[in-house]
Amino acid sequence: MNEIIHKVKQYAKKKSGSIAYTVYDEMKTDELLESDYTIDSLTWEELDKYSDRLAGYKSIYTKSREPLIVYGHKSKYMIVCFMACAKSGHTYIPVDVSIPISRMEDIIDSVKPEMILATEDGNFPLPMNCKYLSPKSIESISHDEQYKVAEGISVKLKDTFYIIFTSGSTGKPKGVQISTECLTNYINWAKNMGGGISQHTYRFLNQAPFSFDLSVMDIYLSLYTGGTICAITKNVQKSLKLLYKVLSEIDINIWVSTPSFADVCLSDRCFNNTLLKHLKSFLFCGEILTNRTAMKLHENFSESIIVNTYGPTESTVCVTQIVIDEEILNAYSPLPVGVAKPGTWIFIVDKDGNHLPEGEQGEIVIVGDTVSIGYYKNEEQTKKVFSRYTIDGKEYRLYHTGDKGYLKDGQLFYCGRIDFQIKLHGYRIEIEDIENNLVRVSCVQKAVVLPNFDNSNRVKSLTAYLVYKKDGIEEESSDFQLSQKIKSELKQFVPEYMVPKKIKFVDSIPMTMNGKVDRKALEGNQK
Ligand code: AMP
Repeated sequence: MNEIIHKVKQYAKKKSGSIAYTVYDEMKTDELLESDYTIDSLTWEELDKYSDRLAGYKSIYTKSREPLIVYGHKSKYMIVCFMACAKSGHTYIPVDVSIPISRMEDIIDSVKPEMILATEDGNFPLPMNCKYLSPKSIESISHDEQYKVAEGISVKLKDTFYIIFTSGSTGKPKGVQISTECLTNYINWAKNMGGGISQHTYRFLNQAPFSFDLSVMDIYLSLYTGGTICAITKNVQKSLKLLYKVLSEIDINIWVSTPSFADVCLSDRCFNNTLLKHLKSFLFCGEILTNRTAMKLHENFSESIIVNTYGPTESTVCVTQIVIDEEILNAYSPLPVGVAKPGTWIFIVDKDGNHLPEGEQGEIVIVGDTVSIGYYKNEEQTKKVFSRYTIDGKEYRLYHTGDKGYLKDGQLFYCGRIDFQIKLHGYRIEIEDIENNLVRVSCVQKAVVLPNFDNSNRVKSLTAYLVYKKDGIEEESSDFQLSQKIKSELKQFVPEYMVPKKIKFVDSIPMTMNGKVDRKALEGNQK
């Protein structure tokens, strides 16, 4: 049996009534106000039973083993659906509600799913022959004992366990395929991070949306070790007051988030060991962890361990780790991202693929047992960045990250991107993805987007430089009105976090001698 499903079954027997998943949401105004948030939970037994039934239901209707989309936010039925897909031999594709309809359409178009399991209602159009399982149906099937899952049809070791869609430079998202094998190799290493997770039953913070692979870290570490996933919805995260209130109740042991989210929490002095009394470790991934953030966390949480990890979705969450203790904090600025896990090798290469010695900066290449087989139904993009590499007679997959870095003292250091991919508040964005969608906005003729950096070389915001179509706008519109109109139209095509904060109108986009956009000239314009 699939190792992950096996673990869930074991815990369902051993600790049936204990909580596997709990979600904290903002209280809706029409509900009676006792406190300002609601809690909804799922026991281990429920998780196993509900997902068995759902898997039994689905397998009646879908004979093929094609990927299925699971749409929603943090409902407990999301986890039920993930497990149901795995039990019925389907890869699952998590899509968060924050994704605009047109992006959902792109994903549907590329996947052509036979069924969409929606734990929240969405407004996306359904393709022909695609079944829609509504939130109500998911709930009622989960409670209906007539459905039973057949033996032996679960997702196998080499099968794709999940596909996560990330921003793609063409303007269309790319689906990264992660097999059960990659996922289990990852968890078997990650469960020892930060002094070890596997010996205890911890409560894990789930902050990232399920469509972001950082969430894989907390979901599967918790499912694997019999812990509790403590999810907080976007509405809880939006209001600092509510967030602190929830954090004071949630009693988490393992914090999993981007450094940006920790920065948000650090904006109030109450974010310390008194608020989170039993916090053992912070596990960070997805973007630069600055010395400043790590130092503040050390001051506020003297008993907790800070772990910096690095890796892209294409190599299953992360492949390096380092505990940021005071010694490391004082010795390095910027901080290292750590040492590769067993079964993974990190090389630094020049543009011709030659390996560079320690200290020299080049592209970070990852070789190992958690590297994806490539992008779903996208040979062209897959060939560009994935290949094979033999070590000691064994062949492994290799991934060109597009990240710049160097090795020093045996540690990997990250120094930004080679291409136009960036991280903004933890979200991975291809700048060209925004540009290609900006020109879909009715009054935009040409678009170039530039990131603005803070002192730690982290992207703090985006500026779009636009040439507008004179005939596409009303004469009397001010630049402000026009910017608002463009932003709101752009939101139909890309998630809100991809909408540039500033918009500047220019008569033309400057070009270099060889006909490329002169980003440097525009950068000068930014100051
Ligand atoms: P994602 O696929 O969303 O996890 O994004 C992967 C990218 O995030 C990597 O290729 C890096 O550019 C960046 N990243 C991940 N971890 C770190 C880290 N610890 N420090 C700096 N950048 C990181």
